[in-house]
Amino acid sequence: MNIDILLGKTTEHLVPLEGTKFLIHKQMLYDFLKLQKEAAAEGFDLKIISAFRDYERQLKIWNLKASGQRQLVDDQERPLQFSELSPTQIIFAILRWSALPGGSRHHWGTDIDIYDGNTQTHESVQLVPSETVGTGPASRLHAWLDSKIETNSAYGFYRPYSTDRGGVAPERWHLSYYALSRRIMESYTFSLFKKNIEESDIQLKDVVLEHAHEIYERFFLNVDLP
Ligand SMILES: [Zn+2]
Repeated sequence: MNIDILLGKTTEHLVPLEGTKFLIHKQMLYDFLKLQKEAAAEGFDLKIISAFRDYERQLKIWNLKASGQRQLVDDQERPLQFSELSPTQIIFAILRWSALPGGSRHHWGTDIDIYDGNTQTHESVQLVPSETVGTGPASRLHAWLDSKIETNSAYGFYRPYSTDRGGVAPERWHLSYYALSRRIMESYTFSLFKKNIEESDIQLKDVVLEHAHEIYERFFLNVDLP
């Protein structure tokens, strides 16, 4: 496994999704198009709002949040007062919603965030739980996906952040292509995880390193399985 794939530092394994700006893993393109086609037959316009994201982009997100330049929120999405938080509280508040650079599943090209283009516009999508349940605009799409995933007929896609495991907040819109993402995850050892942090130009690096093992277990390995 090329380590750069784990860290979001290469696009060699990716292909563009036709008609969009998104890059996805070339080995999942076929199954994604099948899922999308079947969704269309059911009346849904299954669209991607986020696919591959590179290391630099994730680094920017992390550093904006870790330096108080982008709003942090609590578990209920209520704004947090940056100046009142300790460095440890800051990093754990970020990790609930954003991965470390080099530690995001979006680096792999195997994971995507989706919405229903028939009931939502790209601009209106917020990626919040209420959109995917009850009377939310993407609830019917997600109910259909629930049944597909439960019956193993989702062409290999599943939700790694379906339940609240005390790590990353639940994200029903986040799908992962298991055959590939499982292999990538298995290659991603703690020593690689730690080395990446040591070599990254991230804010609050010392605090992150101090908690590296907990972060690896709780926010990286701790995902739902199909
Ligand atoms: Zn996602």
